[in-house]
Amino acid sequence: MKYISTRNSTRDYSLSQAMFIGLAPDGGLFVPKKFPDFNYIDFSSDLNYQQLSCNILFPFFSGDPLENKLESLCCDAFNFNVPLRRLDASTYILELFHGLTLSFKDFGARFLAACLNERVGKRTIVMVATSGDTGSAVASAFYKKPNIDVVVLFPRGQISSRQEQQITCWGENIHAFAVEGCFDDCQRLVKSAFRDLKWRKKNRLCTANSINIGRLLPQVCYYAFASLKVFCKQERFANFIVPSGNLGNVTAACWAKKMGFPINKIVIATNANCVISEYLKTGNYQPRASILTLANAMDVGDPSNFERLLNLFPNYDSFRKELSSYSVSDEHIKRTIKEVFEQQGMVVCPHTATGCWVRKYGQEERKGVWVIVATAHPCKFETIIEPIIQEEIPVEPALSKMISKENHFIEIKPSLDLLAKYIEKWR
Ligand SMILES: *Cc1c(COP(=O)(O)O)cnc(C)c1O
Repeated sequence: MKYISTRNSTRDYSLSQAMFIGLAPDGGLFVPKKFPDFNYIDFSSDLNYQQLSCNILFPFFSGDPLENKLESLCCDAFNFNVPLRRLDASTYILELFHGLTLSFKDFGARFLAACLNERVGKRTIVMVATSGDTGSAVASAFYKKPNIDVVVLFPRGQISSRQEQQITCWGENIHAFAVEGCFDDCQRLVKSAFRDLKWRKKNRLCTANSINIGRLLPQVCYYAFASLKVFCKQERFANFIVPSGNLGNVTAACWAKKMGFPINKIVIATNANCVISEYLKTGNYQPRASILTLANAMDVGDPSNFERLLNLFPNYDSFRKELSSYSVSDEHIKRTIKEVFEQQGMVVCPHTATGCWVRKYGQEERKGVWVIVATAHPCKFETIIEPIIQEEIPVEPALSKMISKENHFIEIKPSLDLLAKYIEKWR
């Protein structure tokens, strides 16, 4: 399997190359040159998650030096449960938050860390911008991995205090920076580091954001897994609602569908940051500064993976045929958290609530089986949720452990020069 840039399809890369480079030299994102074709009928319904992911990822690794390690990579990375819970007669919740840092980011981050760890030679820097959950997942996945330093850039004061604690509690090879600015400033900083080819090479720079294909591929597996489970229970194709920010997770859903898994509609739920809904409405893509919302991990004004979606659906009509999108206000997020709690007895995080809102109030078919993707554990967002449901959310043991640790971070303006100076010091 070969990989190409979304901006230039003439040069081929291997998977390991694409993972280490992160962003293609022309500024594009890596995508598989050709997608494997699966027949969902071939999959037995009782495959375990690790085994299934290994089967699905196998063609993506063919010919790569990591090919023979794939099974152990999957077993190491996906060391937690992936429950599909029933919300009502025709709606399921796919809980992707049972990894160590309690969001779906653990799938991609743990898998990427396992892959890079196998192949890393000289000292390498993994740089990552975070709107809340990526930072902790990456920090935890790379903690104490030899020869890898992690730089986490998070927007100061714009993430929940428990998210911040999960990013800053590590020390050792994890370097956390509180950036004066918003998530887009953090993301720009990563991109400017990548554009500085000399600095990038000298520091053997690599990224663990969802621009890295090594994070996206493992996310394809849970869409395949959930759709196969639904098909086995109901003999119907599943529709997915994906709470989205940088559009990585929804790209993975589209890839799973393209590969032949029993998936029908894919619907994007966003918060008030609605560039993708506007694109679907008007055909104009107008990136903007992000605005702060209750679903902070989705506060993205210029989603990176839009470019991968366009690569998949190059013209506006095909794009509109495959995807629809709804923007959900903070007020509706709050109301939905309350309703889902009162009516179904389930506590959902503000991100997941955007998906629940779409299922209830969106203009989609009521018929069919729907899967709402639950992206984070509610206990990370207790300050938002507890006042709404008037109940305390029990803290997951993994989180209490991180909360009790001392935290370390450096405050910094969003400037690559300043960041480079800090990095000089510890290298
Ligand atoms: C990252 C994140 C999202 C958005 O996912 P994208 O892949 O960036 O679209 C949604 N919810 C939570 C909890 C997240 O951490």
